Amino acid sequence: MSTTPHPGTARASAEIDLAALRANVRALRARVAPGGAQVMGVVKADAYGHGAVPCARAALEAGATWLGTATPYEALALRAAGIDAPLLCWLWTPGGPWRAAIDADVDVTVSGLWALDEVTEAARAAGRPARVQLKADTGLGRNGCLPADWPRLVSEALTAQAEGLVRVTGLWSHFACADEPGHPSIAEQLARFQDMLEHAEKAGVRPEVRHMANSPATLTLPGSYFDLVRAGVAMYGISPSPELGTPADYGLRPVMRLSARVASVKQAPAGLGISYGHHYVTDRETNLALVPVGYADGVPRQASGRGPVLLGGAVRTVAGRIAMDQFVLDLGADTVDPGARAVLFGPGDDGEPTAEDWARAAGTIAYEIVTRIGQRVPRVYVGETDA
Ligand SMILES: *Cc1c(COP(=O)(O)O)cnc(C)c1O
Repeated sequence: MSTTPHPGTARASAEIDLAALRANVRALRARVAPGGAQVMGVVKADAYGHGAVPCARAALEAGATWLGTATPYEALALRAAGIDAPLLCWLWTPGGPWRAAIDADVDVTVSGLWALDEVTEAARAAGRPARVQLKADTGLGRNGCLPADWPRLVSEALTAQAEGLVRVTGLWSHFACADEPGHPSIAEQLARFQDMLEHAEKAGVRPEVRHMANSPATLTLPGSYFDLVRAGVAMYGISPSPELGTPADYGLRPVMRLSARVASVKQAPAGLGISYGHHYVTDRETNLALVPVGYADGVPRQASGRGPVLLGGAVRTVAGRIAMDQFVLDLGADTVDPGARAVLFGPGDDGEPTAEDWARAAGTIAYEIVTRIGQRVPRVYVGETDA
């Protein structure tokens, strides 16, 4: 990784507002706590590009009681940073670091018998029980144990528990269409989860936590809270989908602001082709600003000719192709000085576009826009303490 320059002179930076993140966690807690549910801050994929360790700490400060990651290595990295809160990871492959997870007191997810076999073997070697959460596939059709295989998984997990090799600490599932309120799969999944819970509890499982809700369910479906909600994108102040409304509709505020400093400005004649493929040609004498970020930084090439950027008091549209490291804005009669700050997205209250605007321009979802911001862009943390 390149040396991180001083934030003030950096080519580009992603400013991460930890005060906003904490406020978002408090807003989510206020929504679920009256029903007795806790909040898990999901910090997988480097906290959706925001930085896992600082975001995990901020989430805990604001009252999240659990953390969640996809891979075990993401979970172990949090432990290595000294974070000792309850922590669940869910995306395992054969031969994964079961022993390290047990030693680090990380809850592991088991979706099938192969994983139960591997974790019990690791627990035997560790000489202590693994904390295991069983995952049900109630209709996402991805990871998780299907209803037909559930009785056997539950019974073998209870056998391993009786032998002192595991403790079944959780039962959980994940929605397919929670971002489409009223989608028939939502009620079906909830009913199936209730059945699978009932089966496990009748068989003798006494979970510490039962959970199903992601951000869209947390924002729209109080009947899905159980003991814990797993909130990812909402914690970063992004609405799970434009159809659900804006972040502000839910009392949330975007946490990331991505900006870059203009590398050069030049006066150009009419008829100049801009960037690879000449998909944009100046139609008059004009001023061009070079913005030194590109798809290597996570700015989606798909948004070529469409991505919005606030520069010099106006929102401009990317002129021509977004290249690996740079793109061009056509300022017309306006101009800026080199070094001026171009804001690609942020909370939106200074007139800058939002990650949602970029998602629309790139034909994707805002989750992907923030998560893909590359390692070459330094994260600059602000709001580390409440003022
Ligand atoms: C990513 C993820 C979440 C968080 O989803 P959001 O929609 O970002 O809240 C919750 N649970 C699981 C299993 C996930 O993979």
